[in-house]
Amino acid sequence: TQQLLRNQEKLSLAGQLAAGIAHEIRNPLTSLKGFLQLMQAHGTGKREYFQIMSSELNRIEGIVGEMLSLAKPASVQFKESDLVELLKHVVTLLETKAILNNVVIKAAYEVKTAVIHCDENQLKQAFINFIKNGIEAMPDGGEIFIHLCAPEDTSYRIVFSDQGCGIPEAQLEKLGEPFFTTKHFGTGLGFMMSEKIIRQHQGSIRIESQLNKGTKILVELPIS
Ligand code: ADP
Ligand code: MG
Repeated sequence: TQQLLRNQEKLSLAGQLAAGIAHEIRNPLTSLKGFLQLMQAHGTGKREYFQIMSSELNRIEGIVGEMLSLAKPASVQFKESDLVELLKHVVTLLETKAILNNVVIKAAYEVKTAVIHCDENQLKQAFINFIKNGIEAMPDGGEIFIHLCAPEDTSYRIVFSDQGCGIPEAQLEKLGEPFFTTKHFGTGLGFMMSEKIIRQHQGSIRIESQLNKGTKILVELPIS
């Protein structure tokens, strides 16, 4: 009966998630349909229609993409990887987005190497989500600071700090709920995914945030 119960729980969780996704995708779809109808009625499309339609399509693409990576744990590949290398790679990947947003990414690695047993791609995805959120929290630009250290000989700590808007107390508990977003074009899936990935690595996440000062995401990962 325990297994049966578990299957039922899984089903309702899948159902909840499906309802959420359907809802999230229906909004941009409704808007796309509206613009198509307008264009059909006018026999032409205005430039701004195309811009909105394209951003709505981007939104759907984003949601579907993140859902796919959520549904892909089967391809998880654990091996020994160096967190320093991994973080450096992530910083390179985000350099363009940072420059476009007037953001400078700085990093301090207190250890030369930090080898752990992990799925490189998954961890990169989690780190990318944290840094992206940091960049997006600073519409006028600023600094992202990444700090890697080994506070104990059993774990590594990575801190991602930004100088952004901060997270109000009431929103802190919603962080990580599927589809919780305060952004116009957000998906509200990034943090949930990152949490799941860190959990799969037996790690933990802590958040320290001050309104209009910034946010720190502290990630602890056990040394294998
Ligand atoms: P999204 O980025 O698509 O909105 P996330 O799951 O990544 O979804 O984040 C959910 C919400 O949490 C964001 O919309 C934002 O309100 C808040 N948030 C996450 N990280 C930060 C941060 N570093 N600074 C301020 N707010 C944040
Ligand atoms: Mg995000």
